[in-house]
Amino acid sequence: NAFAAMGLAPELVQAVTDMGFTDPTAVQARAIPLALPTDAKNLADLMVSSQTGSGKTAAFLLPVLHTLLTVQQKAFEQEKADWDAKVAEALERGEPAPKRPRRKDPTSSRNFKPAVPGALILCPTRELAQQVAADAIDLVRHCRGLRVANIVGGMPYQLQIAKLQNADLVVATPGRLLDLQRSGQIKLDEVRFLVVDEADRMLDLGFSDDLEEVNNLTAQRQQTMMFSATFAPRIQQLAMRVMHDGGARVQ
Ligand code: AMP
Repeated sequence: NAFAAMGLAPELVQAVTDMGFTDPTAVQARAIPLALPTDAKNLADLMVSSQTGSGKTAAFLLPVLHTLLTVQQKAFEQEKADWDAKVAEALERGEPAPKRPRRKDPTSSRNFKPAVPGALILCPTRELAQQVAADAIDLVRHCRGLRVANIVGGMPYQLQIAKLQNADLVVATPGRLLDLQRSGQIKLDEVRFLVVDEADRMLDLGFSDDLEEVNNLTAQRQQTMMFSATFAPRIQQLAMRVMHDGGARVQ
């Protein structure tokens, strides 16, 4: 399987197989290997030229989900090892094994915590954000702990907030995302991966200042990918501002 050969996690390979993808599209074959983690310390930033229908959505979702999954599995193994050590210590001292704390219901308002997603995908329109979120939900079907949330204008606020809690990957339009950030419903300081989809339309629709703000709010991120139909000068200028050396070009 060509997706497995790229080094993608088995959970994701299974999902693309379920979806009937047998071979990567051209943009996927070029972008995914560059975006995946290597032995080198830093993840690469990418500036990708792509058209709708090219398979661009999976080209950014697969590497982002792969890296999120890897981080989550490492954290889970560490948590389990720490807990096992705690139990072993208690038994050694002749004490009863401690009870593992129960998870709190995240949808109860009593337990409200702002969402702290690890990955953020920005889309210019509500329709595109919904499509990307739907694709992400398809791709995480075998990833037990990964949750996807969609933030777009026009959705009931309470519903959106309930869905947002515990989200690992957030797909959003910039305006609503920043509303939720300003009101403390979402924190962006743990975002490791930022994707700007259809960057050219994003600028056409006047989201330049919002992009700048998200760029500043997620300054600690490890990887940025921009997708655009063209490499027009204004897109290159944006790429230079938000990515290391403007990102590696993928055409
Ligand atoms: P996009 O350009 O991301 O909007 O994708 C266009 C369509 O191609 C979507 O319906 C995807 O489900 C489909 N698609 C994406 N990648 C593949 C693939 N490797 N093989 C077959 N279909 C794909």
